[in-house]
Amino acid sequence: MKKLALHWQILLGMVGGVLFALLMTNFSWGSEFISDWIQPFGNIFINALKLIAVPLILASLIKGISDLKDISKLSKMGTRTILIYIVTTVIAVSIGLGMVNLIKPGSAITEETRNDLIASYEGDASIRIADAQRQKESGPLQALEDIVPENIFAAAGDNSNMLQVIFFAIFFGLGLILIPEATAKPVKDFFDGFNEVILKLIDLIMLTAPYGVFALLAALVVESPSADLFAALAMYAVTVVAGLALMIGFYLMIVWIFTGTTPGFFENGIAPAQLLAFSTSSSAATLPVTMERVEEHLGVHEEVASFVLPIGATINMDGTSLYQAVAAVFIAQAFGMDLSFGAQLGIIATATLASIGSAAVPGAGMVMLVIVLAQAGIPEAGLALIFAVDRPLDMCRTTVNVTGDAAVSMLVAKSVDKLGHPNVKNWDDHLPKKNK
Ligand code: ASP
Repeated sequence: MKKLALHWQILLGMVGGVLFALLMTNFSWGSEFISDWIQPFGNIFINALKLIAVPLILASLIKGISDLKDISKLSKMGTRTILIYIVTTVIAVSIGLGMVNLIKPGSAITEETRNDLIASYEGDASIRIADAQRQKESGPLQALEDIVPENIFAAAGDNSNMLQVIFFAIFFGLGLILIPEATAKPVKDFFDGFNEVILKLIDLIMLTAPYGVFALLAALVVESPSADLFAALAMYAVTVVAGLALMIGFYLMIVWIFTGTTPGFFENGIAPAQLLAFSTSSSAATLPVTMERVEEHLGVHEEVASFVLPIGATINMDGTSLYQAVAAVFIAQAFGMDLSFGAQLGIIATATLASIGSAAVPGAGMVMLVIVLAQAGIPEAGLALIFAVDRPLDMCRTTVNVTGDAAVSMLVAKSVDKLGHPNVKNWDDHLPKKNK
């Protein structure tokens, strides 16, 4: 029998997890059974993915940069990457603003529902507000200062310091380019081999993905809040999801236009990473799989993927920025506030920056939303309004975040002639001489 493609296996695991949890909620002991005996396997799966993230960034980025052989190539790729990331984020925020102004989901919220929601989630919201406060207190250049670690082991020891690890890897790779080739060779060989090992580990972890997502989704179902609250927020959720769907359509289109690869090809290649992003709500945890899929199934050369994707996972969050724009205006509408055109332009700027600053972990987008709200003069307490549906929306926006990174990596690869047929080994033999 032909083996089922990975994304179908993962999808089956997800559906199975949801059905199993729905069945178990019929028993008084069902929820406890899931949190005691099923959820830990989901956590183990996420831990295994996170475990790979730092070594993967180090090995693949150092290898990728040192393969570039000269610095001008790096700066060309770097400028394009950052530029395209910013453009896609601004487009995402604009789509979000367009949708929320068109659908006006906040006007459907009655005062009674508003008060109910605030009363139920006030506590949770204030934790997020306090988190955001801590981030806000730092100076304007703090984010830049934070990129340079004072100790690489400390930076690599904390999964939330991805940008610092990326900085070190790029810096180290630069050093490797600048020393004589013969001296660099053993170091390069080491990282080449190290990289191969990590890729094999990702393969092994992915064998367990269908079971991992089964456990993750089963645990989510038993933890989710009551259906009544969902219903009150249905219009808001529909607005976010519709905006995110448009964004996916946008990626398929730009990939098609700029690289000539069909939407079907792109979707087939990236689907397992999308499903994993949906199940884990974390672009950082999904990164190893995104890299593998983009290189082996979409044909992006490792030199490009290893540079564009880790940076994208940390700073390019189109789904998050779109959600922040919708959420901010929704809260304003629910409080009966009229946002001027100028205030909405301000939201484009702050949501773009806030999404760059959001960590690639579950719920991070909501913490940074507080900053968008404060900037636009919208009551921060409104965070409580959207709490009930945040997790499912987090799953959807993370899927878009990951898809956006993959799409941009294809555009960048195309622009530097490093996009080829997937599974092409010995890339450089297939490229015209001028690109080697
Ligand atoms: N969970 C998202 C991510 O990891 C960030 C967020 O929007 O909360 O990409």
